[in-house]
Amino acid sequence: MTSKKEIMSHLKQEILSLELKPGSMISETALSERFQLSRTPIRDVLKQLSLEQYVDIYPKKGNLVSYIDLESVEQIIYLRNVLEKEIMKSLAGNIPLKGLHELRNNLAQQQKCIEQAEGAEVFLQLDDQFHRTMFGLAGREFLWGVLQQFNVHYIRYRKLHMLKDEKLATIQQEHQQLLDYIVQGDTAGIDELLHHHLRADIDSMNFQEHFATYIKK
Ligand SMILES: [Zn+2]
Repeated sequence: MTSKKEIMSHLKQEILSLELKPGSMISETALSERFQLSRTPIRDVLKQLSLEQYVDIYPKKGNLVSYIDLESVEQIIYLRNVLEKEIMKSLAGNIPLKGLHELRNNLAQQQKCIEQAEGAEVFLQLDDQFHRTMFGLAGREFLWGVLQQFNVHYIRYRKLHMLKDEKLATIQQEHQQLLDYIVQGDTAGIDELLHHHLRADIDSMNFQEHFATYIKK
């Protein structure tokens, strides 16, 4: 028998990794069989997942994995953009040597990840680590944590965004360029590139059409 907490984390993991696709049905009966638990605790789990926006409960239709809400993705991107601009500008021209070393090391790992086709999952973690390191260097690690709390839509959006391998090389180059701007103290360069780096796909109709079946109408 599995505890409610374990079931919750299993399901979250499957939803965030898109193994359970947005819009797919989650049946109480199937879960109850799968986890060998009666339907009452399963219902509690689903209720909690719905509060956290992983699942939408429709009284007559049943429980569906939530569709990606681009409106909330856009709001998180907006917040990230505002915060990160300030963070990167505060590091511009005076980044500590140790931090610079850490970021360069991270970029080398991103490069290796692409060359050795280690996959989008690994790349995504390195990408997060790259940005998170900057938050840390600016003494804003707490705010990085805040951003991570409302992210079921945003994480899935980023996963879809990184499905194409050729995307990864572009993202890696943008990271490299951002770091160069920081070292050179080029704040105008940071402004423009970061905006593009964070917003590229949400602004493209191509993305919305390509993943239409995953997106909340
Ligand atoms: Zn990035």
